[in-house]
Amino acid sequence: MNANAEKAQSQAIALFVSDVHLQPAMPGTTQAFIDFLHRHASKAQQLYLLGDLFEYWAGDDDIVSPYNQRIAEAIKAVSDAGVAVFWLGGNRDFLIGESFAGATGITLLSEPFITKIAGHRIVLAHGDAQCTDDLGYMAFRAQVRDKAWQRNFLAMPLTQRKEIIDRMRMGSREAQRGKSYEIMDVNPSAIASLFALTEATVMVHGHTHRPAVHQHEWNSRQCVRYVLPDWDCDLEPARGGWLALHDDGTFTRINFDGSAFKQDCNGA
Ligand code: MN
Repeated sequence: MNANAEKAQSQAIALFVSDVHLQPAMPGTTQAFIDFLHRHASKAQQLYLLGDLFEYWAGDDDIVSPYNQRIAEAIKAVSDAGVAVFWLGGNRDFLIGESFAGATGITLLSEPFITKIAGHRIVLAHGDAQCTDDLGYMAFRAQVRDKAWQRNFLAMPLTQRKEIIDRMRMGSREAQRGKSYEIMDVNPSAIASLFALTEATVMVHGHTHRPAVHQHEWNSRQCVRYVLPDWDCDLEPARGGWLALHDDGTFTRINFDGSAFKQDCNGA
């Protein structure tokens, strides 16, 4: 471990992570995330889980499955250690609700959420709401984020909900195949609007699986947008990581194994 990574771990006050896509079929990723919670998150003051932690979430009654139980217990251990753990739903796990929050000690946030840490005004979002060029997805999002739709869905038996989710996941893979690289990224105007609306100077989001640090100028203010990586530690080379904010106001990008990120692909 180099000195930079050592510093990153000792003084990090807030950690941000998203898009781990936890699922039983990915044991390496699951273990890497649990290691992250145990070794790193439990030593921070705040942990922000910014969506798509789970590959899918069929409803809080599914917390009894052994796999989900294992994840819930690992998150609870972090909140029990005195860390404030915040949750913001993604497009796959937006059905996480109060029962899961109660079982794990997390605080549910709605996006966009503004937090002030170490002198920064930071806006947090999953990132899917800013992919406004993907009209098909935006229509789908409006439907599944509708409270009445969610009530109807959650009233179905768990097995039926899982079947529907399986079909949705297959349909989503099909739909993505026909979409261009640009369409599936965030829209620049949607990002500018979010900076304007929130008057934040830092934005943190995931969803696009295109980890980067982007510099933006808004109203002659320099703004920075951190895009979090997705995780896959079941493939070679393994990937994943998080963003750390230190008490001196600096940010560090850390790889899933705790090593410091070598280079920033700025704007790439
Ligand atoms: Mn997502």
